[in-house]
Amino acid sequence: MFRGEFKEVPADLAPSEIVRVEDQRGHVVGAGYANPASGILVRILTRGGELPSQEWAEAQLLRALSRRAERLGDVADLRLVHAEADGLPGLVVERIGGYGVVSPDALGAEQILMPWLLPAIEKLAPNGTILRGIAPVRRKEGMDLRLEMLRGTPPAGPVVIHEEDIRYEVDLFGGQKTGHYFDQRENRALCRSLAAGRRVLDVFSYTGGFAIAAALGGASSVTAVESSETAVAAITRNAAANGVDVAVRAENAFDLLRQLVRERAAHDLVVLDPPPFARGKDHLEAALRAYKEINLRAMRLLAPGGYLLTASCSHAVSLGDFLAVVDDAASDAGVPLTRIAVRGPAPDHPVRVEVPETDYLHLVVLQRD
Ligand code: SAH
Repeated sequence: MFRGEFKEVPADLAPSEIVRVEDQRGHVVGAGYANPASGILVRILTRGGELPSQEWAEAQLLRALSRRAERLGDVADLRLVHAEADGLPGLVVERIGGYGVVSPDALGAEQILMPWLLPAIEKLAPNGTILRGIAPVRRKEGMDLRLEMLRGTPPAGPVVIHEEDIRYEVDLFGGQKTGHYFDQRENRALCRSLAAGRRVLDVFSYTGGFAIAAALGGASSVTAVESSETAVAAITRNAAANGVDVAVRAENAFDLLRQLVRERAAHDLVVLDPPPFARGKDHLEAALRAYKEINLRAMRLLAPGGYLLTASCSHAVSLGDFLAVVDDAASDAGVPLTRIAVRGPAPDHPVRVEVPETDYLHLVVLQRD
């Protein structure tokens, strides 16, 4: 709850203090942890009279685990806790190569929730626990950035994770976000199932996620486009580890798409999985223009019958916004398309109806006539 929502705030409120919130008539709304240094003064953990405790936090974790087991089966590498979406505000926990990777981006998440859950995380991820507190939003909470081992010894190099039979290396002390984009797991599997015999272009490839899935799905050729040098090196290593060929173009995607359209290069499956173009509502217009540009160009690259898998992971871009941009790009490109599917994030990134920020990843699948 934001500071402005409170009529009365005790002057001696301590950082990470567990507090009860009451409405104006004195009825208990819930309890949560406070941070007087943050615009988000209290994050509510429990509703009604229950006070949050270690047992409560462990129960939240257990529920998160059982939901994942129902929908994903026994998966080794995944996001175990997705913050608000799993009732544990500010806290992300992943298991990557047997390591627990804990990413708190609120003070109470680091000082209250994390210590409560560390014993359980130790059992779930025996190799060690890493605190990966590198999200810039931590500064708004008055927190420093931290990247350190909480338990165990750091891996000697990148760890290897498995997505079905695919091997990806993940650099736990470098990489982006928490090292691997688990949220696109099922969408990569879809790409694989569509790829047989197709010329595939994976734009914004990171460590080759969609590209390698497509190659294993029997693509006739695969090209990955990625501008980060460290990611490009990982694409090559990941392709070799999976025994597939991926041509890598270490270039700016905007420039390369323009060039490929000029060259009239045809593809039968194009993936667009860019970083979030809109970090906040202020950047929405510019972001929508950028989405339109890359989609328009990608559509022009499609051979008859070709697929476009196009994603947005910008929190500020709603599904409605994104569908409108895609439709607009299609009409400007003059390319006749059928919309085959609209998909969201993987089951380990649940979308909570009452928390709109959790509905951030949209994937639209289109096919050219
Ligand atoms: N599809 C990937 C995740 C992509 S994340 C997967 O399945 O794992 C987005 C990627 O886009 C990042 O690796 C980032 O380095 C890259 N990127 C950002 N801007 C870019 C640009 N202008 N040109 C090419 N790559 C870019």
